Amino acid sequence: VSKKKLAIGADVGGTYSKIILADEAGRILADTQIETQASRGPKKFLRRLADAAISLQRQSGLRAKAIGLGIAGDVDSEAGKLRFSPNLKPFSGFPLRRTLQSYLHLRTAVENDANAAAWGAFVCELKRRPLNMACVTLGTGVGGGLVLNRKLFRGSTGSGGEIGHMCVEADGALCHCGARGCLEAYMGSYGLTGAAEKLMSGPSGRKSLLHRAPGGKLTPQAITDAALKGDAVAKAVWKMGGYYLGLGIASLIYLLNVDNVVIVGGVSKAGRLILDPVIKVLRSKPFQAPLKHARIRIGQKPHLGALGAALLGLEER
Ligand SMILES: [Zn+2]
Repeated sequence: VSKKKLAIGADVGGTYSKIILADEAGRILADTQIETQASRGPKKFLRRLADAAISLQRQSGLRAKAIGLGIAGDVDSEAGKLRFSPNLKPFSGFPLRRTLQSYLHLRTAVENDANAAAWGAFVCELKRRPLNMACVTLGTGVGGGLVLNRKLFRGSTGSGGEIGHMCVEADGALCHCGARGCLEAYMGSYGLTGAAEKLMSGPSGRKSLLHRAPGGKLTPQAITDAALKGDAVAKAVWKMGGYYLGLGIASLIYLLNVDNVVIVGGVSKAGRLILDPVIKVLRSKPFQAPLKHARIRIGQKPHLGALGAALLGLEER
């Protein structure tokens, strides 16, 4: 049995919440999943989350010292509240930390999910080595987190590192935030599937394998599968998404001169299909020094969001 400090981490999503028990080195010792059921309200959710945390500890015979929540949305980590989230509207403004503390009596952190993933990547993937790193989370949306001078950088109001809303194309595709040309509008899963649909209806897209996507559902995974089979439309979609991600990452490196960029999240499973066009953009720039210094990689560890949340729980006083 590990003598290290243990913590519970939860990655709270719109549909499911992943819950893990991990040690301070980032080893996952037990895990489970519950339905979030946001419409039933934050109190009921936190009660079920607390019950799941208790049974994880009971089943494994281990005791956690802290708990951390990573939540998609605008989080006030100082106050331990979610200010607003489009996917978890009923949780907005609720005192999450205070309530969870009253249930479990543990040190409790409440953090934006991308910030939590960045911290997870910093500790578990990079072993706290780099001075500065950026994390890009690829899912429905594109998020990001920054670790600067080995500390999580939240910005002045907690919105630091919103990499997905950096503009990479003037008057470009429409983003869910309402603006045009955001990185997310190209590299978020809806940006990728939208681009695929456009190409599929074009003259060279009629024979695309994507017309026969499993269950008729166009997903980033289906685009990956088709690209690996040589489908021209699918390959073009990743090339385009990767190109815009490359532009975003280049700007990020020029701005912050980070040592590492870690790409995580469900969509990052496309691996080289994303990495190759990103590297191509970085190599094409004349001013090479900071770009050459930065190492770009796809995160390998699962559940970095939940892990990072757990580790941030341990950092709480
Ligand atoms: Zn946007």
